Amino acid sequence: MAGLPFVVCALALAGSVTATLSPPKAAIPRLRPLDTWSKALVARGLEKSPTFRALVDRLARADLIVYVAVGPRVATASGALRFVGTSATFRFVHVSLDQSLTNTELVAVLGHELQHAVEVAESPDVRDLESFRRYYQQQGEVGSEIGRFETEAARRAGRRVREDLAGREGPGAGR
Ligand SMILES: [Zn+2]
Repeated sequence: MAGLPFVVCALALAGSVTATLSPPKAAIPRLRPLDTWSKALVARGLEKSPTFRALVDRLARADLIVYVAVGPRVATASGALRFVGTSATFRFVHVSLDQSLTNTELVAVLGHELQHAVEVAESPDVRDLESFRRYYQQQGEVGSEIGRFETEAARRAGRRVREDLAGREGPGAGR
């Protein structure tokens, strides 16, 4: 047991070194696509849609990390946002997007889900699954299925991103 204090010291030191070397909080990207498809959708949203850019700017000011992945449809939803967890510095959510949609639809659905991410980002009390559920039970409307919630702001964000893309690219673009 003689070596134990050294181990504790070494761990404490390692912790403080990591904290010193970590980049400032503002420089850490909030929106994190997990695959090349999501990455392309984020790039397109940022390039073509002022609505999308405004949502990403709002996320940059908060402590919420948003992971994005395209994959098989979740239940009957074209997109979904889940609360993942909390660390000392950040809170984490995961957005899943239905891979059967067109790219234009996917960017619009991502805009819709980013509005939900902003709702969570700007509600510091949401820190776990319980407070996440409570927030949407109070602020959201009950969706078409049990456990699903919706907000008018998210529906509006999705529509606006779709209009931004249509306005810049003409009808039917990106299909
Ligand atoms: Zn929604």
